[in-house]
Amino acid sequence: MNTIELHKDTSFDVNKLREQFPILNQSVNGKPLIYLDNAATNQKPLSVINSISNYYETINSNVHRGLHTLSERATEAYEASREKVREFINAKSANEIVFVRGTTEGVNLVASSFGKANINEGDEIIVTEMEHHSNLVPWQNLCREKNAVLKYIPVNDEGELILDDLENLITEKTKIISVVYISNTLGTINPVKKIIETAHRHNVPVMLDAAQAAPHLKIDVQNLDCDFLAFSGHKIYGPTGIGILYAKEKFLEDMPPYQFGGEMIKSVSYEQTVYNELPYKFEAGTPNISGAISLGAAIDFINSTGLEVIADQEKKLFDHAMNRMKEIGGIRFIGTAKEKASVISFLLEDIHPYDTGSILDNLGIAVRTGFHCTQPLIEQRFKLPGTVRASFAVYNTTEEIDIFAEGLKKVKQMLA
Ligand code: PLP
Repeated sequence: MNTIELHKDTSFDVNKLREQFPILNQSVNGKPLIYLDNAATNQKPLSVINSISNYYETINSNVHRGLHTLSERATEAYEASREKVREFINAKSANEIVFVRGTTEGVNLVASSFGKANINEGDEIIVTEMEHHSNLVPWQNLCREKNAVLKYIPVNDEGELILDDLENLITEKTKIISVVYISNTLGTINPVKKIIETAHRHNVPVMLDAAQAAPHLKIDVQNLDCDFLAFSGHKIYGPTGIGILYAKEKFLEDMPPYQFGGEMIKSVSYEQTVYNELPYKFEAGTPNISGAISLGAAIDFINSTGLEVIADQEKKLFDHAMNRMKEIGGIRFIGTAKEKASVISFLLEDIHPYDTGSILDNLGIAVRTGFHCTQPLIEQRFKLPGTVRASFAVYNTTEEIDIFAEGLKKVKQMLA
């Protein structure tokens, strides 16, 4: 251990950190904003906001095209960001990192390209009952197009995957398993490594939807041995419209392009086209250059804050919120898995989630209400009209949670 590690300052000053998030310092409906909708999208630090304007003020230019200085600078910054992503998830090579619009496009790319090449009539794809629509509808659509079968890993009443039957669910027809790493609705952290090991014993590749995992825990794609993984920039303190698809090189080599046009080609004649090398084969057209560069700034923010510090703060907030909410009485928690992230889905008495959400909004408190893009999970599995969801980020405070709990008491007094 060197001296820097010995004297590492472990104290975390949330108020100091909040100074980096100008959006938090405002009133909504006459009350200080309390933003508890972080699982939908989290807020951006100044370093990310500045990196977007800095890009347009200093190096805006197209990438991989011009020989001129600005284009070279933009290309360098764009590729440096890809390298940051590679390091962030410990991929073997930057060739395995494809910039996409977000998790949704990452899944669509795999369903469309891998699906086109590998899924045939009668084949099977496995997902879980707790998927976000973006890791469900693309596979449903692929199955419809190919006359393939979509199977579901079931969820128990606590919101955990029932994996006892996974071995039986996998057959020689299974071509891919795609699973959410952390559920955005239940907060469950799924045992993805175990799923991957089981799948690989049957030579079935696994895709992970890491949209909710990337902001909360260290992702190591080599250790997990996942074959595909996608996450969105806007859920890791970065901008909207950018995300990444990770895929093992052997899959990307074999998969056909997802979209066609400039950038994804090596040479074009009137008769034929030779596709570009990885990862450009999957990045047709002018990419979201400023988004990719600012995604790098978001990763810098996470690294400088420390994923452990983020996880500790979120755990503290989660525990505090659960204690305060249990005191209120009449709250039904949806998703009580042993392994949980800082997401709390609940119903207050028999009050409709929308009513709870609107009263909280009047108090300046932003929570999410409804299906959270997991309609089958809420409606068919849990038979609910929706839930209220509070989700925390590193910049939230225990004082904010106290105000949130007081808000819930008010809702209960008014409507229960
Ligand atoms: N998967 C999960 C678990 C999510 O929470 C979300 C977004 O809420 C997505 C996928 C889709 O992400 P995006 O809309 O950024 O593509």
